[in-house]
Amino acid sequence: MKLSVVVPCYNEEGNVPLFYQATVDALGELMRDTELIFINDGSKDGTLAALTNVVDKSPYDVKVINFSRNFGKEAALLAGLRKSAGEYTVIIDADMQQRPEYIVDMYKILEEQPEYDVVAAYQGARKEGKVLSFLKNTFYKVINALTDVEFVQSASDFRMFRRVVVDAMLSLTERCRFTKGIFAWVGFNTYYMPYKVEARATGKSNWNFFKLLKYAMDGIMAFSVKPLLIVSVLGIILFLTSIICTIYVVIKTLIFGDPVAGFPTLACLILMLSGIQLLSIGILGQYLAKNYTETKARPLYVVKNILGSEEKHEE
Ligand code: UDP
Ligand code: MG
Repeated sequence: MKLSVVVPCYNEEGNVPLFYQATVDALGELMRDTELIFINDGSKDGTLAALTNVVDKSPYDVKVINFSRNFGKEAALLAGLRKSAGEYTVIIDADMQQRPEYIVDMYKILEEQPEYDVVAAYQGARKEGKVLSFLKNTFYKVINALTDVEFVQSASDFRMFRRVVVDAMLSLTERCRFTKGIFAWVGFNTYYMPYKVEARATGKSNWNFFKLLKYAMDGIMAFSVKPLLIVSVLGIILFLTSIICTIYVVIKTLIFGDPVAGFPTLACLILMLSGIQLLSIGILGQYLAKNYTETKARPLYVVKNILGSEEKHEE
């Protein structure tokens, strides 16, 4: 098997047939040596029916991993990577924002340039709001400052890997999987290939602001413990400041007497300090929560069944 194509699908009934046809057209002869692995991530629409239809009609090697419910894209990717057997594995969205034609370009790069192990597509100009791009810029600055691995901005998770990279990624057993971080963490020589993000063919994106914020926080916490260090240092600084203040107040009272004043200052200080305390406890709690998830060691997804030619014979 030369190539595995891993496609996470959540409510993509309209896109599945388009995606399949576009991939077959783009890959041409290469399709004979390719396996398509779709993951139906608990879709609530007709995605499963569309995928079953593809499996039934396709002359090629198509498999569908059918989850018991929605477990999220990260879990879907993990299931797909575990199943993949190709010499090269590519991850691509089902929504046609990433054109399957690029798979051929990625394939050529890995074939012709042995020094590269990963091809990552990155977006050139992307049409998005000023606020969103500001938030994204900030996120990358923060995460790069806080972690030891390098996160490349606007590099998508549309990527092709050699086998050794896939094996390396699968060797990370953590539950809180932040794929972008895992790509960066495993290292390897990465070729950055510019590409154009298309509009979604049908359906709508599953992201909203709060999901993005949670994703960003998960990412930072999965790859850095520096926030804990920062709050500790903040605690030390505040403690030292309070000693200096106390000495100042005592001396001032001894010399000038004690006129009652400074209630607003007091109120502000209490607010500020309790705010910082709550923030610190919050950060601590987040790490504890992650630890809780890791120790429970639940599987990241549950597979209901697998459709596809090979499995029919195996089981
Ligand atoms: N996806 C998934 N599970 C989810 C959410 C999304 O498998 O819970 C899939 C989705 O079907 C698509 C890909 O992940 O193929 C990217 O999702 P989306 O288009 O919503 O994200 P965006 O392109 O906006 O980053
Ligand atoms: Mg999309």
